[in-house]
This record gives sequence, structure tokens and C-alpha cells, in this order.
Amino acid sequence: MKRSKLFIAASLAMVAAAPAVQAAGEVNIYSYRQEFLIKPLLQEFEKETGIKANVVFAKKGLLERLENEGQNSPADVLLTSDIGPLFDAVQKDIVRTVDSDVLENNIPAKYRDNEGRWFGLTARSRIIYASKDRVKEGEINSYEDLTDPKWKGRICTRSGKHTYNLSLVGSMIAHHGSADAEQWLNGLKDNLARKPQGNDRAQVKAVKEGVCDLALGNSYYFGKMITNEKKPEQKDWANSVNLIFPNQGDRGAHMNISGAAVAKHAPHAENAVKLIEFLSSEKAQKIYAEVNFEFPVRPNTARSELIKQYMGEFKEDGISLQKVAEQRSAAAKMADKVGFDS
Ligand code: FE
Repeated sequence: MKRSKLFIAASLAMVAAAPAVQAAGEVNIYSYRQEFLIKPLLQEFEKETGIKANVVFAKKGLLERLENEGQNSPADVLLTSDIGPLFDAVQKDIVRTVDSDVLENNIPAKYRDNEGRWFGLTARSRIIYASKDRVKEGEINSYEDLTDPKWKGRICTRSGKHTYNLSLVGSMIAHHGSADAEQWLNGLKDNLARKPQGNDRAQVKAVKEGVCDLALGNSYYFGKMITNEKKPEQKDWANSVNLIFPNQGDRGAHMNISGAAVAKHAPHAENAVKLIEFLSSEKAQKIYAEVNFEFPVRPNTARSELIKQYMGEFKEDGISLQKVAEQRSAAAKMADKVGFDS
């Protein structure tokens, strides 16, 4: 396989600089996941395997970079914080099939591609944050309830085109079909308190400040807010809401994943698989749970104490994420059609 001269030069420089860890080789990671979370995981991985992990962190553009680099790409592993980029990577044909019994045992089928092209590593739910003061217990129970006219002008969310919302709307399409899902999205838009803006935490802040009474947000943000010593005002935001896991009476709450894939032209494909296997191990799953309040995908791995305390057990939507991801582009078109963000 041909490598660019630049990359060969860079590798040799690294070998010269760090001969001790080179025996087991290295693995190159393109990561949408943030450094504070990935670093402790990679430190454990290096300790356990002797494989040196090199990371490029970015908020966007990693898929395009992989695509442009083609067979000269140094990347072995892609780490993402949502099913979206993993599904897109499959569409772009920039990831490869992995056959691993370890991954098949550690990750439930609904959270991985049936052809082994992507693997979920943590799960999260997109839940409803409801004002403690202004929303009574039992007043809202499902995503479908969000279109009830009684919520007119009372709901906050980030952009309908954001990847988290695309997956949620994708799941509505997968469960109800396009026509009903579009009606739902229209109804939700009609009930918004303001034009979609900000991130998930900003919606909970808006509930605290009385701008709205219900907000959509990913589950782990609650843990991040309620433990936030650097920005203690976020504890107040978190304390102002009840957490509603929707659809407990029927299909269960919408779930998404963070995950990984092996690059099509990975120069260290074996190490790439070892890394993903490590990330699905008991040890790594616990780090994800403790550091970022995500739900381990690995069966029988405990959630963080804080998550147990505030969230308890809940019913997860059992639909395959593949089916949800297939509807994401339709969800994006739908958001435009109903003018969700305008
Ligand atoms: Fe997030």
C-alpha cells in the first residue's frame, strides 16, 4: 500500500523519538470525541497493550479528511459521538468490515452494524427535561405528547438539523412513517417557545429561566450539569428540572450511541480492532460511565452511581439504530420542509 512521503517521514521521526513503545506498534485515531474523555481511556489502552495511540481531535471535517486522504490516510480508527457520522462514513465507503467475536459479545446487536462496519461504545437517551415548578408529574409521557396544544409556546430545543435531533426525528419516521412523523414535527415546531438555538444545556438553562417549560436534551448532560464545579450555575439549571424518559408505556426512550469504525485504508488495522475491543471492555466502559455519565453498552456493566440515583432503570427503544440512521437524511429534509429552524 502506498503512503505519502510526508507520513513516512513523520512515522520514522516518531519511531526514533520513542523506541520503547514502538515494539507493539501504534494506532492513529481521528476523534470527534473530546480529549478530556478519550485521554484517560487511551492511557489505559497504552498501559495494557503497549500500543501507542496518536489522536487528531476535531469538531468537524474528519470524514471529509479521511475521504480526501484516500489510501494515503494515516487514520486507523474513527471515534464519533453520534450514530450520524458512522452511518455517513459507511455511505462514503471510508470504513471497513470488522469481524470480532469480542465486539459481538460486548455490544448488543441493536448498537452495531450487522456487517461490522461500525460499533456503538456508549449509549445515551434523548430525554425530556421538564420544569419542576411548571410541569406536573405525569403531565408528559412521550415524544408524541410534545405536539399537544397545551404545550404551545412552552418547548425549547436546539436546531432541528443538529445530529442529535436528526436521529430522534429519524426514529419517529422509522416508527410512524413519513407522513405521521412530519405532522409530529410540525406540531412540535408549533409548540416551540423560541427559534431553535444553542446547545442541549442551553435549553435546560432556558427552562430554569422560565423561557420554556420542556426541553429536549441528551441524558448525560444532566450529569455534567449537576456536577459542574467550574460553572456552578449549571447545577441550578439541572436542579430546576425533572427527567422524563419518554414512551415508557410503549416502545421506550429514543437511544443514540457514541461509537467507532475502522478506516478502510487503516495502516494498523489489527491495532485498530484491538483499540475498539478495549473500548468495549469492562474497564473502559466504566471510564465512559464515570467520566461522562454515559450508559455502558456492554451488558451487565454498571452505570455511574449518580446516573443510578437520578435516572434509575428505564425502558430503551429496542429498534436497531441502523433503521434510525437510514432515516436521517429524510429527517433533515423534513426539518427544512416544515421550516423547523426558522
Ligand atoms: Fe453531546
